[in-house]
Amino acid sequence: MEKRILTGDRPTGPLHLGHYVGSLQNRVRLQTEYDTYILIADVQALTDNFENPERLGANLLEVALDYLAVGIDPERSQIVVQSMVPELTELTIYFMNLVTVATLERNPTVKEEIKQRNFSKGVPVGFWSYPISQAADIAIFKAHLVPVGEDQLPMIEQAREIVRRFNRLYGRVLIEPRAMLGQVARLPGTDGNAKMSKSLGNCIYLGDPSETVRKRVMSMFTDPTRIHPTDPGHVEGNPVFTYHDVFNPDKAQVDDLKERYRQGTVGDVEVKQLLFEALEIFLAPIRERRAEYASKPGQVRELVIEGTRRGRAVAQATMDEVRAAMKLNYFG
Ligand code: ATP
Ligand code: MG
Repeated sequence: MEKRILTGDRPTGPLHLGHYVGSLQNRVRLQTEYDTYILIADVQALTDNFENPERLGANLLEVALDYLAVGIDPERSQIVVQSMVPELTELTIYFMNLVTVATLERNPTVKEEIKQRNFSKGVPVGFWSYPISQAADIAIFKAHLVPVGEDQLPMIEQAREIVRRFNRLYGRVLIEPRAMLGQVARLPGTDGNAKMSKSLGNCIYLGDPSETVRKRVMSMFTDPTRIHPTDPGHVEGNPVFTYHDVFNPDKAQVDDLKERYRQGTVGDVEVKQLLFEALEIFLAPIRERRAEYASKPGQVRELVIEGTRRGRAVAQATMDEVRAAMKLNYFG
C-alpha cells in the first residue's frame, strides 16, 4: 500500500503564511510520494464556532482555493470535507473509551486555546475533547505521516497512544502516525504573538491583496525597546526578521539588514519595505493561481465533492475493519 498523509485545517478563515511554512509546503512537496488526504475540518471548527455555523460554509471554498493556489494537485491530493464523512463520528465515539479524562486535561495546546477563547458559558465538551476526534481523522485514513505545525504535536502524540491502545485491545488494524514539522514549526504573528493564528487576527493571508500585505507589514510589531532608528535594535525574537529569514531569498541582504539593525544604522521602515517586497515575490504567483481558480467556482466545488467521495470510501473501508476487529459486525 502506498503510504498516506492526512492533515487538515479548520475552515475558520482563509489560510495564512503560518499554514504555509508549518504544513502546506510539506504537503505540496510530499504529495507525489504519498497518497494524500487533506481534511477541511468543519466538525472540529464547530467546537468553538457552534453559535455561528454559517462561518464554516463561508470559508470552506476559501480554504480549498488556498490549497489549489499553493500547488496542491487534486490528482494527487484529495480535499475532504470532514462533516461529509460520518464514519469519523463513529470512530470518535469508539476512541472515547481509550482516553482518560486526566490525559485530555493535560493537553497543553488545548489548555492554551481554552485560555485564549475565554468560553463565557464554560468549556464545551466538544472543544475539550477535540484531540480524540482528531485522532479518529488520522486513524481512519491510516495515515503514516501528518504534516503539522508545532501546536499540533500533542494531538499527534494523543493519536499515537489511542492507536497503540486500539491495536493492543482489538488487533493490529490501525497505523501509528508520525508528525512532520514544517520549515518553521511555529510562525509568529504580525503582532509579535508566538503564533500567527486566524483566531488572533495577526495574520498575513495567502490571498491578501498587495495593499493589505503592505499595511500589515508596515504596522508589524518589531523591537519594543527601540525608539529611534539610531538605537541599537534586537534581531532575535523580532518577527520582522523571522519573516525575512523565511521569505527573503536574498540572504546577503538579510545579513546586512540584521547587522545594521543591531548597530542602529537602519530604520524599521526600510527593513519592513524590503520584507514587503520579498513577500510580494513569494505571494504573487499564489495570488494569481488563486484568482484563476476563484473564477471557476464550479470546478472547485466538483474537486471538493470528488475528493470527499474518495476520502469517504477510504473511511468506510477502515470502519469495516474496525467493526470486525471490535466484534461489532454481528450480522456479517
Ligand atoms: P484557528 O485560530 O482557527 O485555530 P489556526 O490559524 O490555528 O486557526 P488551524 O486550522 O488550527 O489554523 O491549523 C491548521 C494547520 O496549520 C495545523 O497543522 C497548524 O499547526 C498549522 N499552523 C497554523 N498556524 C501556524 C503557525 N503560525 N505556524 C506554523 N504552523 C501553523
Ligand atoms: Mg488552530
